[in-house]
Amino acid sequence: MPSRYAIDTMLTTQYLQQMVQIDSVNPGLAADGVGEGAVAEWLYQTCLALGLEVEFQETAPNRPNVIARWVGTGGGKSLLLTGHTDVVSTANMQGNPFDGRIEDGRLYGRGSYDMKGGLASILGAVAALKADHFQPAGDIWLGFVTDEEYLSLGTDALVTAIQPDAAILTEPTDVQICVAHKGFAWLTLTTYGLAAHGSRYMDGVDAITHMQHLLNMITTLEQQVFEDDLHPLLGRNSVHASLISGGLGLSTYPDQCSLQIEHRYLPDLGADEIVQLWQDEIDDLTKTIPNFKATVKLDFERPGYEIERAAPIVQTMHHAFSQVMETEPTYMGMYAWLDSAIMGRAGIPTVILGPGGKGMHAAVEYVNLEDVFACAAIIAQATADWVG
Ligand SMILES: [Zn+2]
Repeated sequence: MPSRYAIDTMLTTQYLQQMVQIDSVNPGLAADGVGEGAVAEWLYQTCLALGLEVEFQETAPNRPNVIARWVGTGGGKSLLLTGHTDVVSTANMQGNPFDGRIEDGRLYGRGSYDMKGGLASILGAVAALKADHFQPAGDIWLGFVTDEEYLSLGTDALVTAIQPDAAILTEPTDVQICVAHKGFAWLTLTTYGLAAHGSRYMDGVDAITHMQHLLNMITTLEQQVFEDDLHPLLGRNSVHASLISGGLGLSTYPDQCSLQIEHRYLPDLGADEIVQLWQDEIDDLTKTIPNFKATVKLDFERPGYEIERAAPIVQTMHHAFSQVMETEPTYMGMYAWLDSAIMGRAGIPTVILGPGGKGMHAAVEYVNLEDVFACAAIIAQATADWVG
């Protein structure tokens, strides 16, 4: 590999295997999740052994971020290398979900692909820079964060602690440069009726039947409105029904019906505009349909993210990729949401690059070891170029 910084593949594999073998299931997603405490302790010790300054940042009881710093000699730009330490539930997995076994160049186990492979790339990159006696001018920060799979407590806390000039997030991208991802919003739509005995058609107002008009609106958005707006990397906006409830009993007109929905949207759209879209529809229906009454409520939102290809950190990543891989990089967008939106909102330009594999949140999960090494080499080069 024509990289200045030779990756120690044995050491990087060891890092990855040890992290996968430590259970860090997010307790927000699985009631029996043990959380990130043990893997944070392992990362703390590993960063110390690499000669970095390290501290914990508490994000919830026994769920700390690990923040490490390689102090620069001064005059350079600072860089954050970051990824999440939590993994999703193992309930659907067969065998030992944390065995970390290696077969045919793949390392298996929950979190190997999402995203301890990316964390191993970061550690492998730093180990390579250390082995080469690299002296950074700007600070190199490592941020290993909790809770990305649920509420992102980790990155929310991290951006209050440090303000690097740029960041590389190592979520899995199949060794492509990711420059955009979607946002999402959870909303509750409620229709209101009037409870009455099932025989009293002259008194009752059926809230569940009223919900059909809002369900129709979902179909209209999906089949007509959202078709027109296509992003080159992210497809289109989308909305779907998630959960529905209503009704009081078989012989009673339902007084209320609630529908929870999810929007996934392009970076140029915001949750406020989506709420307004629903409010306008409700206002129209209220004028045209007798006894129609409904409300819309925003429950949770996370914005999308996009960074220009001309941005300095993207250019740095592009050049490092070309140099190490001896080919031009492919650019991609992630349909799923990532922590980069929080960093973007905090004013930290962020680019995403991580290894390939399969089985994110699935019954069998693995990461390709060659990709982990390639990402480590690209990240080492990009880091050296950026911090000077
Ligand atoms: Zn992830």
